[in-house]
This record gives sequence, structure tokens and C-alpha cells, in this order.
Amino acid sequence: MQPQEFDETYRVLIVSPEVVPFAKTGGLADVAGSLPKALAMHGNDVRVVLPRYRGIEPERTVGDFPVMVGDRKETAILREGSIMARLNEEEKRVPVYFIDNYHYFDRDNIYGYYDEAERYAFFSKAVLAMLRFLNWRPEIIHCNDWQTGPIPALLRQWEQADSFYSDIATVYTIHNLRYQGNFHPSTIHLLGLGQEYLTPERMEFYGELSYMKAGIVYADMVSTVSRTYSEEIQTPEFGERMEGVLRSRAEDLYGIVNGINYHEFNPATDQRIYQRYTDPEGKRANKYGLQGEMGLPRKDVPLFGLISRLVDQKGLDLIAQISDELMGHDLQVVVLGTGDPHYEDMFRTLRERYPDKVGVHIGFNAALAQKIYAGADLFLMPSRYEPCGLGQLISLRYGTIPIVRETGGLKDTITDYDPETRHGNGFSFRDYDSSAFLSAIRRSLAVYHNEPVWRELVENAMNCDFSWNRSATEYMGLYGAALRKVHRILTA
Ligand code: ADP
Repeated sequence: MQPQEFDETYRVLIVSPEVVPFAKTGGLADVAGSLPKALAMHGNDVRVVLPRYRGIEPERTVGDFPVMVGDRKETAILREGSIMARLNEEEKRVPVYFIDNYHYFDRDNIYGYYDEAERYAFFSKAVLAMLRFLNWRPEIIHCNDWQTGPIPALLRQWEQADSFYSDIATVYTIHNLRYQGNFHPSTIHLLGLGQEYLTPERMEFYGELSYMKAGIVYADMVSTVSRTYSEEIQTPEFGERMEGVLRSRAEDLYGIVNGINYHEFNPATDQRIYQRYTDPEGKRANKYGLQGEMGLPRKDVPLFGLISRLVDQKGLDLIAQISDELMGHDLQVVVLGTGDPHYEDMFRTLRERYPDKVGVHIGFNAALAQKIYAGADLFLMPSRYEPCGLGQLISLRYGTIPIVRETGGLKDTITDYDPETRHGNGFSFRDYDSSAFLSAIRRSLAVYHNEPVWRELVENAMNCDFSWNRSATEYMGLYGAALRKVHRILTA
């Protein structure tokens, strides 16, 4: 289903375990950093909250308050910073709250600890307690991913005892269903919820307690980051065992495709790339710069980019299967990524075997990513599944033509180029199959070698609009739907 668009504005708290520019491991952080700005520009009173991980430097300390974690009293120190939303001359400040606790969050990494259940139980409870502390009551709490899943359930419980928490609506957005936050059932105690919550109708999930399921079951509205993904996850193939729960919420399940920040991702002003540009011709200097930096010969051959977490989801085994055939063509490939050591080795080996054709950087490097988006001609995203995907959207903005598998948000944002009608903004293939992938690459090469047509395709890509503006309006529609639902329940 798609939400109806809505004109009203709201008081919204966006809760996310990661937010650009403070903490990022994946696309969720980009969403949580960009959506609030777009919502602010639409006139909403929007604020953001995340944990204060090590390295984040807030502007000020607001105060502290107690939070019970199981039987233990912990302290949440509330700190505040901001992100600035800009539209032409207009500027708006979006308050960002940081929940600080030295024990839980002052660590080297964002995730990957033995006590994840406890860390995010603390965070979830602290977020609700923070509202009382600030005496700020949002109309909507917008939760994101498993780390925030308990919040809708806690809210329903807390409102029984304290009317401050009643008639607040919740929206829960799934950015990637694979990461569910499933823990030992005893975790329920940490959340301060009773055993009665451990049933299949509520938070129990195959013998465990699932934070993700709590969000899906208790939120007033549920969304994912593309319409296709919202449909796919209701099937066993993509459902990660959560398909039944999702089907039970099908009426309230929406898909809203992410945007990207068109100010941050702008080839005309981007300081990280070799040369700024506004038309396809301007990519050439960036291509030469990238070839130089990656140790590849400077040549006018098609240059493919790949920027990705190196995990199974991203379809990298398809790349392994086609690599020899691909290298038979006169082309170059540049890879930036980090993740599964197996894939890191695969790309290192490819570089050793084809040093004139393959450039590899293993690691996370935001500046190099921009150079690749600007310098590459084509961008590879043969994902097995892809809730939304940001890489293809950034590529379009930089006039780099995506080659994608038709799944999730890739299917919703990339239209296969048709040389007859000259319609489309990329190349796509349907089956998860190396020959289908290879055939899409061959079609892209044929168009690449027809220079005027290629130029037109690059222009098409650069003219696409996947800014946050439209998605933000859709989220406002969803907020309206969630609020109407809560009020109906209250007046029933
Ligand atoms: P996911 O959230 O599954 O990782 P997305 O395509 O939604 O995938 O978002 C990934 C984001 O992270 C993109 O902005 C991409 O450019 C960036 N990214 C991924 N890997 C790296 C890396 N190694 N270095 C820099 N940026 C990266």
C-alpha cells in the first residue's frame, strides 16, 4: 500500500541507532541524517535521537535522569547537538539528542558486543524517559531498525501508568529485515516487560525475544524503504522468517523509497572529487583522476565502479562468476568495500591477476567513494536483495549508469534502458544468475560505445530526481495515517 499524501505538519522524534554525520555503518545513517532535514523544511518540528558513541562531540549537556535496566538503575546523560537543514537561503536547526552512558556506548565500535540486547534496551527506555525529562511530547515517534523495536511496545505499556505517553503514534521503519535483534527470552526482564509479552502474538520469535518483531507488532504503522521490498518481505524468500508477522500487518505496511541529500551529493559543488561538473563531459577529468589514484592506466575505456559492504546480500558471488569473462573486455573496474574476508580476498586476488584493469581499496572511505561515483562510467549493484539501496541513487546524480538486479528499491528506481525508445536510466536484469548479469553488462557496453546515445543516457541519469523532498512528503502522509489510527483507537 502507499500512504495518502498529507499537508499537515507534525512534531516528530526520529529515533535511530546511527545518524550521519555522527555515526554511520550503513544506509540507515544517511536516511536518519537526511529525512529530518527534509521534514524540517516542510515545516515539521522534528528532532532526532541516537546513542552517544565514542567520538561524538555534542554541543552541550542537558542533564541526566535514571533509567532502569532490569533491576539495575542506570543513568542516562542527555546531551544535545544539531544538524542544519538548508534550502536556498533558508536555514533551520534540527536538534539532535544523544543518550550518553559510559558503560554502554563509550566503546571502540558502534556494534558487535556481547550485550547488544542490554545496550539497546537501555537506549529504548532512555528515549522514552527523555521525553518526560524534556517535557516535549512528539505526536509521532519514528523508530528505525531493530535497535529501536522495543519502543512502540514500551510506549503502549508506559501510557497505562502515565498519560504523558498516551496518544503518541509510532511508525516503525525496517531498513534491512536480516538484522532482527533476536535475543535470549530473559531479555524481557531488561526491558521491564512481563513474561506475558513472550508469546507468538507479541514479541516471542522462534524461542527468542525479537526486537524487530516488537516494532512490527506494536507500531501503529510499519514501513520499509521501497514498495517492492515491502511486498518481497511478505514472502518466504525475502521474509527472513518474519513473513507471517509482516503479512499480519499488511494493511499498515508501506514502502517509501529513500532519497539522497542533493546538497551533499552534488557534482557541481562536491569538494571531494577531482573536478566539479554539471554535464557528462565533466566526468572525464574525474575518470583520469580516479585511474591515477587507483594505479590504473589513464585510458578512455568503460570504467565500472563498485562501492559496497562486502557481504552476501550484495551479489558479489555473481561478480566472481563473471570476472574472467568481464576481464576479456577492454574495460576497468574499481572496487571500494570492506566486510567478509572471503570477498576482500576475492577482490585482492582479482587485482593481482588483472593489475591493469582492476583497482581495489579495502576499507571504508567516504571521500574515495565520491571520487568513484564521479569518475566511473557504470556502477555495479547485482544485489541478491536490496531494501532500497543508495549507491544507485548517488550514481545517477553523478551521471554514472547503474547496472542493477531487479529487486527491492533497485527495481523501483532503475528503469532498464531501451535503445529503441531511448527511455531508461540504467540497465537491469531479473534472475539472480550470472548470464543475466553478463548480458546486462554487454548491453551497457554496446550503448557506451555509441557516444551520442551514451551521452543522452548520462544526461537522463543526471536529470532524475531522487531528492528527499518527495519521500519526506510521503512520510508525512504516513505520520498522518498513524495519528488517525491512534485517535481512532482512543475514541473507540
Ligand atoms: P547498505 O545500507 O546495505 O550498506 P546502501 O546502498 O543503502 O547499502 O548504502 C550504502 C552507503 O554506504 C552508500 O552511501 C555507499 O556509498 C556507502 N558505502 C558502502 N561501503 C562503503 C565504503 N567502503 N566506503 C565508503 N562508503 C561506502
